[in-house]
Amino acid sequence: MTYALTNMRRVLRELRQERPADVPARLWRYAKPKLDVLGEEVLYRARLMGPLAARYRGPGIALMFHEIQSNVDDELRTGCSAGHLRQVIHAVRAAGRDIVTPDEALRRLGDRQSAPFALLTFDDAYADNRLNALPVLQELDVPMTLFVPTGMITREIDAWWLVLRAALRSRSEIALPPMERTFQCPDLASKTAALRQITAWVGTDQARAESLSETLGPLVSDPASLVARYAMDAKDLTQFAQHPLVTIGAHTKTHRFLSQLSDGEVLAEFTSNKNYLEALLGQPVEVLAYPYGTPGACGEREARLAREAGFKAAFTTRPGHLFPDHLKTPHLLPRIDIGYTPQRRSALFSRLSGFQRAMTTRWGAPVAVLD
Ligand SMILES: [Zn+2]
Repeated sequence: MTYALTNMRRVLRELRQERPADVPARLWRYAKPKLDVLGEEVLYRARLMGPLAARYRGPGIALMFHEIQSNVDDELRTGCSAGHLRQVIHAVRAAGRDIVTPDEALRRLGDRQSAPFALLTFDDAYADNRLNALPVLQELDVPMTLFVPTGMITREIDAWWLVLRAALRSRSEIALPPMERTFQCPDLASKTAALRQITAWVGTDQARAESLSETLGPLVSDPASLVARYAMDAKDLTQFAQHPLVTIGAHTKTHRFLSQLSDGEVLAEFTSNKNYLEALLGQPVEVLAYPYGTPGACGEREARLAREAGFKAAFTTRPGHLFPDHLKTPHLLPRIDIGYTPQRRSALFSRLSGFQRAMTTRWGAPVAVLD
């Protein structure tokens, strides 16, 4: 409640700084997600979401998590708790889906007689996946796939999102000259709002992402140690990869927006990462997740190059379920972000039922490929 109140105060404070002509657009930007949530909640409570989304419900579903955090508020709600992971697993199973490996998922997509399934995927190789997620996965006997960028393990990555979060955590005001904005961020609500707005401003622009690291790095104590603090190292990953529930997938070398790189650079991102992981772990790495995964970050060209690099399947973050038709485009498989906080039961059900895609595409095509 305190969070909602301070959030509303922040919006009113920001509205006072807007030019009068911009106020309606700003109000709409604020109100639109709230109206979507309200609509979702009403349909969920009326038990209409499932029947309405029947066309969007496929035999498979790939779910995406990032960090499984010990304290989600401390980390500005950028991930979720182990309790939330457990809740998702129970909801997936209650919806009649088995949780399977990527190989089994691809097999089942090609076999119309097989039972509905879900894949649990985790991006970026955060150390908390081993500490907080694995105990839950072990207890409930759930396989998972970890998509690993080389740079997270070797500490060479420009993890601008970690620098941004650390700066917001430690400051109550942040000036961002590249964005021509100054953010007042004295409390959790204003910090999470600033994080959302700045991430939206980055969009799929690598230069903007890099400008954040340059501007905010000096505000953070020991920015170079951030990746080491949050990510697995080679020893952790080698141990983790040996667990029978774990499949390792690729996630590029440097985790940049691929759409802005040349063909040769994209191919090198894929093959270098694949070779690194295979040499380190002594096992084949056959599936890939594109960094960011949005339409602005990857598309048909990246899918062609992923196939060329030897991957049998690759995941975007386009929302939608997995259908047999996806076997024609196995390098553009949709994947649903479900590992964030806060999350209402209606939002969880919207994703598991297929309703989310109906909404985001305004009742468009059920089989997500490039949208
Ligand atoms: Zn990633």
